[in-house]
Amino acid sequence: MNLWKLSAGTACVIGKKKMKADVLPTTAYIMLGEKCQNNCQFCAQSQDSEARANLLSRVTWPAIPKGEVTLGIGDSYRDGTIKRACLQVVQRGDSWETTVNALELLHTSSEIPICVSSHLGTVDQAKELITRGAQRVCIALDAATPEVYKTVKRGQWASKWSLLVECAQALPGLITTHIIVGLGESEQEMVGRMATCIDQGITIGLFAFTPVRGTAWANHLPPTISHYRRIQIAHHLLKKGYQQSIIDFHNGNVARFNVPEEKLIRLLADGQAFETSGCEACNRPYYNERPGGLMYNYPRHLTTVEVAKAIQECEIVKGVYDELANY
Ligand code: SF4
Repeated sequence: MNLWKLSAGTACVIGKKKMKADVLPTTAYIMLGEKCQNNCQFCAQSQDSEARANLLSRVTWPAIPKGEVTLGIGDSYRDGTIKRACLQVVQRGDSWETTVNALELLHTSSEIPICVSSHLGTVDQAKELITRGAQRVCIALDAATPEVYKTVKRGQWASKWSLLVECAQALPGLITTHIIVGLGESEQEMVGRMATCIDQGITIGLFAFTPVRGTAWANHLPPTISHYRRIQIAHHLLKKGYQQSIIDFHNGNVARFNVPEEKLIRLLADGQAFETSGCEACNRPYYNERPGGLMYNYPRHLTTVEVAKAIQECEIVKGVYDELANY
């Protein structure tokens, strides 16, 4: 494979594409292969999708000669504009060979930390990726529950979940997963899944479901911003060491965070809860957002006004502006 696909923002950072963007990626996103063997209802790369082949989520992926990609990423890593590479390989019959070859080339071209997301069948394959130079391995769960997994991914939850947990135990602190909010799970189910992942030492990259034209779920609605903010706050509190028992639910939705309001606002004041989550330095600009539209995940630090707005959007924390004026 001589051409590698880069997210448009990544291509811009390494000087291979001109585009206007408020925020550029701090991770280099590389996608190899197209038209996956899977049938995820939300994904532009799914085998049933009629979306453009150069789309993943909302992002376009121009193809660039791999030698230029590795040189550009190496230079951008050395000058500090890019801090990580994320290698995502679409599931095909040859995806393992593709993954290993690309990882080797990327790893020998620079010292950049690499996260690999590819179809894996065994813990030994995850270990082999680490041995071959990956810093982290991502096993994307996408769906928070077995029921949602069956509906949306048409696959076997049990084997994916057990592989994720076994990898997390075999490679402590080196495993990431992706979970998508708004695929039909309740907020309570999402919080439960996040808590279990965090207990297992699994890093979570949270996504908001984003309808993409040409996919089976093109006409489904994304989560409301209040729903997403409650999940982001819950995720942040769980990462800070709080147990899920401090969260009250009503009809499956988060009804209250049982942390004194002043303390809660102090915990949220730096805005990190609302920034893109996942591997360190992964900011995924505009994966889920239209420029100028709703910011599910902020790809940069928030201003104080944006923090106050984000907290207020969760609809269950009051008095935000007065409290934040103290910070
Ligand atoms: S969290 Fe970011 S860097 Fe890590 S696997 Fe996901 S997209 Fe890639």
